[in-house]
Amino acid sequence: MTATRVLVLNSGSSSVKYQLLDMRDGSRLAMGLVERIGEETSRLKHTPLTDGGTSRERTEPIADHEAALKAVAEELAEDGLGLDSPQLAAIGHRVVHGGQSFTRPTVIDSAVLAEIERLIPVAPLHNPANLTGIRTARALRPDLPQVAVFDTAFHTTMPESAARYAIDVETADAHRIRRYGFHGTSHAYVSRATAELLGKDPSEVNVIVLHLGNGASASAVEGGRCVDTSMGLTPLEGLVMGTRSGDMDPAVIFHLMRVGGMSTDEIDTLLNKKSGLIGLCGDNDMREIRRRIDEGDEQAKLAFDIYIHRLKKYIGAYYAVLGRVDAVAFTAGVGENAAPVREAAVAGLEGLGLAVDGDLNAVRGAAPRLISPAGARVAVAVVPTDEELEIAAQTYALIEKNI
Ligand code: AMP
Repeated sequence: MTATRVLVLNSGSSSVKYQLLDMRDGSRLAMGLVERIGEETSRLKHTPLTDGGTSRERTEPIADHEAALKAVAEELAEDGLGLDSPQLAAIGHRVVHGGQSFTRPTVIDSAVLAEIERLIPVAPLHNPANLTGIRTARALRPDLPQVAVFDTAFHTTMPESAARYAIDVETADAHRIRRYGFHGTSHAYVSRATAELLGKDPSEVNVIVLHLGNGASASAVEGGRCVDTSMGLTPLEGLVMGTRSGDMDPAVIFHLMRVGGMSTDEIDTLLNKKSGLIGLCGDNDMREIRRRIDEGDEQAKLAFDIYIHRLKKYIGAYYAVLGRVDAVAFTAGVGENAAPVREAAVAGLEGLGLAVDGDLNAVRGAAPRLISPAGARVAVAVVPTDEELEIAAQTYALIEKNI
């Protein structure tokens, strides 16, 4: 029997998200989430997707990632999909930071683990959690190929002119300070799916991808290669996000330290967790913000306007970076669902060939679709992202090549 299944693991500091896919057709066999690992109130929600299975929940304390993965393995086994199945080909791990070292998915060995560990200083929140997930999975199935798929990899094609900050070169290099970009798996998947929607090869099209979720980033993709992206050394740079400020004069930080008396950690928390939409109006969910705007809430309206202003600036900037734009693609929670965001983001950009058809924009659905008027110079599209499928596909392609 050929092994065609891939388990995708996304390990956070206190959570593990997972999906089991069959790569014969990319179908999902099971998915789930373990939350609040290490707390008394841990929860595992497991959903088998074969035979219309219903979700099961465990609400017992789950002490650490090892216990979490063991619990996941038990749930999968209950559906006949256990980690010991001969049909399981590999485990694909989402790894947030691959620095300049990893430009493509990589089969994990001890040297790869050491390199991911070396990158912890540039990804102190994410890489340790990703490493814990990998180590635990390797302990459970030491014989099984495990692949790291990096959030930064798609952006490693950025030219130095886009990747470097204009700061002292020696200082930058000593501390590996440069723009790495994130959400790369999504930008890769969506830019390719947009080319497909246009009936073209990715090498023929230039796309601006707007990944608008709770975290948000834009990228300029030229003929399938990323040439610029809005996130930088960390995911803090760029667009206004659910809880992150995005772009800001760096001197705000000195001011908060000198005049505001805040510590480095306090400022880190302020800019990453208490800024963006939540900082501006107290809500980070675009549904709630739209509801408040409909009720005449001025604070929510201002937050929305700041969000849109920044988004529009990036569309203009990436238009200039690319020179010719074939498509603008909206994706992730906000991009896929919030028609008013899409409408406002391209409003007034008719001069650039960008427009949205009101009726098409109002259509909801899971399939990639065009929302620009027929015959528009630049296609505007909604292209649902699928990071798990992309991680599984990259993992499987690599394993097949190595067999
Ligand atoms: P993500 O990080 O891609 O899962 O996106 C999560 C965000 O998408 C949420 O915080 C909401 O702001 C937004 N979102 C999800 N569903 C909708 C919807 N139906 N309308 C507007 N925004 C939505």
